[in-house]
Amino acid sequence: MTEYEAVIGLETHIQLNTQSKIFCSCKADSWNDPPNTNICPVCTGLPGVLPVTNRVVVEKAALLAAAMHAEIQPVSFFDRKNYFYPDLPKGYQISQYDRPLARGGYLDVPLPDGTTRQVTIEKLHIEEDAGKTKNDNGRRLIDFNRCGVPLIEMVTGPDLRSADEAAQYLIRLRQLLRWLGVSEADMEKAHLRCDANVSIRMVGADYLNPKTEIKNVNSIVAVKEAVQTEIERQIREVEAGKRIEAWTLEWDEDAGVLRKMRSKETEADYRYFREPDLLPIHISEAWLAHILQELPELPLERRARFISQYGLPEYDADILTGERSLSDYFEAAVALYPSDPKRVSNWLLNDLMRMLNESGKLASELRLTPDYLVEIIRLVDAGTVNTTTGKSLLDKVEASGKRPGEIVNAEGLAQVSDTGAIRQAAQQIVSANPEQVQSYRKGKTTLIGWFVGQLMRETRGKADPQLARSILEELLSE
Ligand SMILES: [Zn+2]
Repeated sequence: MTEYEAVIGLETHIQLNTQSKIFCSCKADSWNDPPNTNICPVCTGLPGVLPVTNRVVVEKAALLAAAMHAEIQPVSFFDRKNYFYPDLPKGYQISQYDRPLARGGYLDVPLPDGTTRQVTIEKLHIEEDAGKTKNDNGRRLIDFNRCGVPLIEMVTGPDLRSADEAAQYLIRLRQLLRWLGVSEADMEKAHLRCDANVSIRMVGADYLNPKTEIKNVNSIVAVKEAVQTEIERQIREVEAGKRIEAWTLEWDEDAGVLRKMRSKETEADYRYFREPDLLPIHISEAWLAHILQELPELPLERRARFISQYGLPEYDADILTGERSLSDYFEAAVALYPSDPKRVSNWLLNDLMRMLNESGKLASELRLTPDYLVEIIRLVDAGTVNTTTGKSLLDKVEASGKRPGEIVNAEGLAQVSDTGAIRQAAQQIVSANPEQVQSYRKGKTTLIGWFVGQLMRETRGKADPQLARSILEELLSE
């Protein structure tokens, strides 16, 4: 059987999280706003107005370019991309064409098998978004809120080899965008949109079949499914002796099928020419140096450092660096508890992550600061509270904002390690439950867990569980 491999390139559009749009002062984020509320003469293309470039757009785009190891161009130009569509009131989109903001670059994408795929970037440019149209009972409605929203378009080389790799690339890109703070990168809100170019070839062969382009994929899962569906379709066609045609396809997520769209414009159809109303973007060395001050340690670098510096397993390091504020939180906590980074990591992975998932907060937004978390770990270490109480303290601190030690004192949560008090409670439980005692003594020793549970309830969770267990075992064996 012939073996095929896929050759995939992704074109992503990234919505920058600036306050205002790219060429006017309208609010950029309209997610919660009614249609046509964040618009002005500039972004709706009225005659006689002039666009002005938003400096922050250039800075965020350059920061991303630097993080992708791209070459930031000292001079780049805006161009008009001309096409006619109702959601484009000017009749052209301001974009960049032959002199983009940055060229080259790459993103390293760790794959599940432990290898890394280096995905090259062909170009990275700035452009404005168009509006949105929708059908409403036979009428066509237009919302111009998105017109002029700042976008970065980034095109990868044909470096990805499977649907899963395409998904992994998007996961790492989304992580990086959030890490840098340049985009919310929420695919459901169209902050990150993706078109995929897909073709196949025989493994080891030079000949590459024509490619198709898949549009309208709105989630990472959808990208994976759409690309996989298309790879399988192309293999079936080629095996049946048919030619692959260079279609543009649309992914219907509900039906799980690809549909053929209009034939695609070629670049010549857009009649690109320089935008006469805007100055070129000059990025001076001083400005670039200023922008690069914001360039943080990148996620994969930090992941490697967590493994080497703190001896964390790869699994822990990967999760802790999944999001920047979580990794900052971990480092702040380890600085206060340097003796056992893995113990800190366990508390974060098992308990803090649950709190973050439930509340939808970032680690930096918690009232349970790294300082308070370490205080709780130390209270458990010292035997002042048992582990169960320690874990319940997390939510109590988060809810009240109070210091853990203060809550322990106020609520009398300190662990009961007093043998006399535990023995007394244990005796009561033993005499109150003769049936269970009998079954235990007849050999059903697994009931010990039930007895410990009763005792913990009796002492409101404060008994030292190991001490409780050994006293109960002693009483029950009599
Ligand atoms: Zn505007």
